[in-house]
Amino acid sequence: MTTTKHNYIAGEWLAGADTIENRNPSDLSEVVGLYAQADEAQLNKALDAAQQAQKKWAKVGLEQKQSILQAIGEEMMARAAELGELLSREEGKPLAEGKGEVYRAGQFFTYYAAEVLRQIGDMADSVRPDIEVYVQREPIGTVGIISPWNFPTATAVWKIAPALAFGNAVIWKPANVVPASAVAVAEIIDRQTDKGLPKGLFNLVMGSGGKIGQMLVESPEVNAISFTGSVEVGKGIAAAAIGNLTKLQMEMGSKNALAVMDDGNLDTAVACALGGAFGGSGQKCTASSRLVVHSDVHDEFVERLTAGAKAMVVDNALKVGTQIGPVVSKSQLQQNMDYMMLAKEEGAEHVCGGERVERDTEGYYMTPAVFVGTSNKMRINREEMFAPIACVIKVDSYEEALETVNDTNFGLTSGIITESLARATHFRRNAQTGCVMVNLATAGTDYHVPFGGRGDSSYGPREQGQYAAEFYTSVKTSYVHSGMPV
Ligand code: NDP
Repeated sequence: MTTTKHNYIAGEWLAGADTIENRNPSDLSEVVGLYAQADEAQLNKALDAAQQAQKKWAKVGLEQKQSILQAIGEEMMARAAELGELLSREEGKPLAEGKGEVYRAGQFFTYYAAEVLRQIGDMADSVRPDIEVYVQREPIGTVGIISPWNFPTATAVWKIAPALAFGNAVIWKPANVVPASAVAVAEIIDRQTDKGLPKGLFNLVMGSGGKIGQMLVESPEVNAISFTGSVEVGKGIAAAAIGNLTKLQMEMGSKNALAVMDDGNLDTAVACALGGAFGGSGQKCTASSRLVVHSDVHDEFVERLTAGAKAMVVDNALKVGTQIGPVVSKSQLQQNMDYMMLAKEEGAEHVCGGERVERDTEGYYMTPAVFVGTSNKMRINREEMFAPIACVIKVDSYEEALETVNDTNFGLTSGIITESLARATHFRRNAQTGCVMVNLATAGTDYHVPFGGRGDSSYGPREQGQYAAEFYTSVKTSYVHSGMPV
C-alpha cells in the first residue's frame, strides 16, 4: 500500500487537508507516492514556527551552524544515487542527470556551510573625528521559497542553503508535480534537529501554487520571496509581494541562443547544440532553443545536428542508455505538440523529430525536433517552449549573429562557438545576458559563482555564490563614538 508523505511544519510531519498522487512520467502505471497538501492553518503554523526558530538560530554558534549545513550536504552527496533515482522517477530526466542534480544540491549545502564562517563585514573611519563605522550583514527573517519542477532538488536547495547559512528561516513550497524530491530534502534537514537545528527553522508546505503558493506570497509574515518558474506567475507574485514591500528575487524563463560561427569547431558546435537544446528534454531555463548559425557552415552544421538528434535515445528515464526521458506531464507534452504545429504554421521547415513515441512503458515521450529556415520574429523563437525543439536561424555575419542573439525579451544565457579570440571577447562583452558561454553549451553552470539574467529572465539580486548574500541579508551600518580620541 502506498503511504502518504506529509508536510514538515514546526519540526513535525503533519497530514494535510488533502492528498495528491504523484505519477512517473516514464511509466504512468507507477504511482511514485501520495503527498499531503497544506491548508491555510498549516501555513500559518509554519510562519509562526519560522519566526520563533529564526531567533533561536541566531543564538547557535557559527561552527555548529557550519557542521549542520555540512552534514546535510554530505548526506545528499552520499545518497545521490538513491535520491537521484527518485528524482528521475518523478520528473523524467535520465538517471545520470537525476543523480548529478542531487549531488550538486549537496555541493550547494557544503559550499554554504563554509560560507557561514566567511561572513565578514567592513570597517571604516567616519568622516567625523573619533567615530568608527561598521558595516555588517544581518538575516532578513523568514524567506518564502517557491521552486519549479524542472530541477526539483537543485533549484530549491540553491535557495534553501544560502537562506539558512545567512541566518534565515525557510518556508518552502515546491512544485506540485515533484513532491517526492522535496520530502527527501526535508527528511535530511529534519535529521539535523537532533544536532541543534531549531524545529521550525525549515518548513515544507506542499500544495498548489494557486492556493498555498499564493497565500505564501501574500503573507505579511514573509520577509523575502525567492521564486523560479514562469514569467506569468512571476509577475503575479511580484504584484502580490509588493503590497507588503516584500523583498523579491525571481528567476524566470528565457530564450537562449547559441551562435555558431564560420570559424568555430563544428564538433564542439554540434555537441553543444545537442546537449544545450535537448538535455533534460529541453526543460531548462538555460536551454539553447535558438541556434544562430553562420551561412558558410549552416548546411554542414544542420546535417550533423540532425544526424545527432535522430540518434538520441528517447526512453524511460531509469533505463541505462536513455539520453532523453519523457517530458514532465501531459500538459507539457500537449504544449510541445502545439508548438510543433505552430512552427509549421509559421513557415519553419521541419527537418526531424517532434513526434510522440511509444515505449515499453506508457509515458510522455517525444523525439527531439529540429526546424530550419526560421526567423527570429517567429513565436517559436520568441516564446519559451520548454521543449526538445531546436530552431535554426541562418545569419550571414558575426554582427548579424550578435544582433539576433540579443533580439529577445529574455536574457539569461547565450553562447558562441568560435576560434577567434576577437569575436569571443566582443561577444562576451556585448551579449545582453546574465551568463555568457564561449565554446560551451548555454546550459551548465557552476555553484560558486553568480547565476541570473536580464530582461524578463530575472528580477532582483543574483542567486548563488557569495552574491547570494545580497538577497538573503540586510546590510546594517553602525556608527560608534567611543568617547575617546581614536
Ligand atoms: P509555474 O511558474 O506555474 O510554477 C513554478 C512554481 O510556482 C511552482 O511551484 C508552482 O506551483 C508555483 N506557483 C504557481 N502559481 C503560483 C502562484 N499564483 N503563487 C505562488 N506560486 C505559484 O511554472 P509551470 O510549472 O506551470 O511551468 C510553466 C512554464 O513555465 C514552463 O513551460 C516553462 O516555460 C516555465 N518554467 C520555467 C522555469 C525556469 O527554470 N525558468 C521553471 C519552470 C517553469 P504548482 O507546481 O503547484 O503550480
